[in-house]
This record gives sequence, structure tokens and C-alpha cells, in this order.
Amino acid sequence: TLPAGFGRAFVLTLREAFEGAADDLGDLDRRAGDGDFGTNVRTAMKHLDATLETDLPSSYREYLTALYMAWLGVGGTSGPLFGMFFRDLAKAGEARGDGPGEEPGSEAGADVPTIAQFADALAAGQATIQKYGEAEVGDKTMIDSLDPAVAALRAALEADAETTSVEALFAAEDAAVQAATATAQTTARRGRASYVGDASQGVIDPGAAAMALVISSARAGAD
Ligand code: ADP
Ligand code: MG
Ligand code: MG
Repeated sequence: TLPAGFGRAFVLTLREAFEGAADDLGDLDRRAGDGDFGTNVRTAMKHLDATLETDLPSSYREYLTALYMAWLGVGGTSGPLFGMFFRDLAKAGEARGDGPGEEPGSEAGADVPTIAQFADALAAGQATIQKYGEAEVGDKTMIDSLDPAVAALRAALEADAETTSVEALFAAEDAAVQAATATAQTTARRGRASYVGDASQGVIDPGAAAMALVISSARAGAD
């Protein structure tokens, strides 16, 4: 199971990770794309900060809602895709009911999904991204790191009923990071990066790298 403070820890860890990586992600998009991804990440985090300050989220669903709304307010291809993806993760909180927070800024944890529900939500988010973005694995997008992460998470959970959430998420993180790195060897077939053709060879896809940060932050949040 995931700990009571999972939503908060996941979102705040991801916020730090995105802030810290924004410049590097922007550089990758500059080398193979149109260069706006770093700005898009920063804009999303600015929106998130504003919501965290005014809305004082107090449950898994409220933290994930703040995150998805922040991304829906961003342009580029990544804005709506990450927005809809995180909305699917937020919905996992509904499966457990909307637990009231004990105090503003904290969460009771009543609506934190189980790790199995979280894995299902990641898969649902992947399906949504692919429905709207029409990317397949290998097209050099965020799907390239998400797909193996979901597979690794499910495999870890199915292999051993005693596996902890953190152990399973470590397997997912490992798969996501390796797959993101491997996108350097591929040519972009979606988004702006596809316009530069083979010039995207040798450059890691920034969206795939960002998705690896998502999985790694979930792992950190589960600890
Ligand atoms: P844009 O290509 O519109 O400038 P961003 O720079 O905001 O978009 O985001 C770029 C990232 O979005 C890419 O690195 C890639 O991972 C992801 N991406 C682009 N197009 C798609 C798509 N059709 N499906 C999934 N992910 C995509
Ligand atoms: Mg771009
Ligand atoms: Mg763009």
C-alpha cells in the first residue's frame, strides 16, 4: 500500500525535480525540437505553486488535481498531454472516496490509492496520452519511458505478493530511466522534434526524461 502522505510527497517531490531539471529539459528540446519545453515546465510549476498557496490541498486527489490543472494551463504538446495524464492519476483517488484532510496543507490519506490502483491509473494515463497524441513506443516521446515503467511496475506487483510499493516503484523507475536514456538512439516521429528528422539522433527526448522524473518522484513519495 502507499503511505497516507503519498499525494503530497509525490507532487512536492516532482515539483522540485521539474524545477531542477527545467533548464536541461529546455536544452534537449532546443537541440531536437523548438526549445519551449523548459519554459512549459516552468510555467506549469508556477501555476502549481499558485494553487498550492491558495487552495491548500489536503488529499491525494487535491494534490494531483492541482498538478493536472497546472499542466492544462500550459501550451505546447506537453501541456495538454501531461494535463490529461495527471488527471487520470487524480481519478485514482476517487476509487477510495474523498477523505477529508485533518488540517489545511496536510492529508488524511483516506483517498490515497493502493499501489495496484496507482498502477492502473498510470496505464489509464498512458492510454489517454496515446489516444490524443497517437504516439507508439519508439516514436521518441514520453510514451517511451512510461510504457516500460508501467510494465515493470505491474510485473513487480504480479511476481511477488509481498513486494512493497517502494520496491515495485523502484523497478518502474529503473525501467523509465533506462528507456529515457535509450531515446537518444531513436528518431522523433511525433511533435516538433519530428520536424528536425535525424538531427534528433543522439539527443534524449525531453518528454521521456520528464516522465522518468514523474516515476522517480512517485517512488520517492512512496517511501
Ligand atoms: P512541442 O513539441 O509542441 O513543442 P513540448 O516542447 O511542450 O511540445 O513537449 C515536447 C515533448 O512532448 C516531447 O519531448 C515528447 O516527449 C512529447 N510529445 C510530443 N508529441 C507527442 C505525442 N504526439 N505524443 C506523446 N508525446 C508527445
Ligand atoms: Mg517543444
Ligand atoms: Mg512547441
